[in-house]
Amino acid sequence: MKSILIVDDDINLCIVLSEELQENNYDAKFVNSADEAFDFLEKQSVDLILLDLKMPVKDGLYVLGKLKEKKVDSKVIVLTAYSDIESAIKTAYLGAVDFLSKPYDIDDLLFAMKKALNQEEHENKC
Ligand SMILES: [Mg+2]
Repeated sequence: MKSILIVDDDINLCIVLSEELQENNYDAKFVNSADEAFDFLEKQSVDLILLDLKMPVKDGLYVLGKLKEKKVDSKVIVLTAYSDIESAIKTAYLGAVDFLSKPYDIDDLLFAMKKALNQEEHENKC
């Protein structure tokens, strides 16, 4: 079962989304801030991170930068209500594999996740 970490300051979104992902056979956990995410990832690694961009104190771009710096190899999909080209380019530059706008469509999200996770399998085969 693939492990997913949702990083979003919107607790309701985290609860709903983690349930949706569990129904789709993902091992989904969530945290509500950048610092909680780093604490979590120190203890266990995950296959995929679903990351919010707008969070108080330390935002998603900060998280992406740190993940890159720490060479965390989880795939990252950015989920944001404030989608614009500039942020999308920045997140891609910082290593995010996909960028989806909120409110997310669960089917689009599941498709993007599958794509991101399969990409990982292909890389492992090489
Ligand atoms: Mg937010």
